[in-house]
Amino acid sequence: MFHAPLVIAADGNSARMALSLNIRRREDRPLGVAVRQYYRSPRTHDNYLESHLELWEGKPGASRLLPGYGWIFGVGDGTSNVGLGMLNTTSAFQNTDYKDLLRRWLNGLPPEWGYTEENATGPVRGGALPMAFNRAPHYRDGLLLVGDAGGVVNPFNGEGIAYAMESGRLAAEVTVQALARSQGPSRERALQAYPNVLRQRYGGYYTLGRVFVELIGNPTVMRTVTRYGLPRPTLMRFTLKLLANLTDPRGGDALDRLINAMSRLAPAT
Ligand SMILES: Cc1cc2nc3c(=O)[nH]c(=O)nc-3n(C[C@H](O)[C@H](O)[C@H](O)COP(=O)(O)OP(=O)(O)OC[C@H]3O[C@@H](n4cnc5c(N)ncnc54)[C@H](O)[C@@H]3O)c2cc1C
Repeated sequence: MFHAPLVIAADGNSARMALSLNIRRREDRPLGVAVRQYYRSPRTHDNYLESHLELWEGKPGASRLLPGYGWIFGVGDGTSNVGLGMLNTTSAFQNTDYKDLLRRWLNGLPPEWGYTEENATGPVRGGALPMAFNRAPHYRDGLLLVGDAGGVVNPFNGEGIAYAMESGRLAAEVTVQALARSQGPSRERALQAYPNVLRQRYGGYYTLGRVFVELIGNPTVMRTVTRYGLPRPTLMRFTLKLLANLTDPRGGDALDRLINAMSRLAPAT
């Protein structure tokens, strides 16, 4: 048996520590699924990430466009990391065979890229993407949740690494403040600040992200934005900044200021 005055749970999406305190997943928050595989490929030295927005439920063009995207990035060691992620804002979510979806998408790519079974260097691996604070409260009874354990994946793009690291830093800062106080109400108040710090940092932006995932869960919206939005450079610059969370917080250009203002105005819940 181990005892500690505070525990920082960084145990990922399994969230065993949180579950032991009965802190459950919030059903009103989005969840994603991602699968990926490595392939030997001539594209291993690509120095950019390529995104494919067209993932079809059935045959391309003949069925529903799914809310998600495929990615390809060069690893530089002879392989590419190729995968896809999808949101639970569509009825297809529960019934999708993700390995099959990956294979069908890859079958439609140029064969010279090498994303075929014989070039795979390992099995398909996958996991859940817990988004937009989908587990809360982030502090209770001496336990702080960081990263996937606290569901801090960005709902716009499914990225969770930077957010896991940053929530870890925020939790560490709060912990240092708290442990400087003597045990009791004063320390407890310091620890209670952690969920507020997280909300201030991401709350408004994640609220916008939740609206976004609801919208793209509608196949008509998804089709319209990919067909009419993609060819418009200014709209795409705006979309890239918003989806990748790449705005300059100190001002930047008009697009940065617009997105920062939207994030500030959106309720941080
Ligand atoms: C296929 C896929 C692709 C992804 N691609 C990207 C991407 O390109 N960019 C990006 O930003 N994010 C990506 N993500 C999301 C990202 O991987 C996660 O958000 C991120 O790893 C979360 O970090 P974490 O430290 O909170 O949890 P994890 O990385 O899951 O780490 C938790 C660790 O705790 C360990 N653990 C759990 N329980 C116990 C226990 N009881 N005892 C001991 N150890 C335990 C686990 O073994 C694990 O090592 C992807 C996710 C998937 C599934």
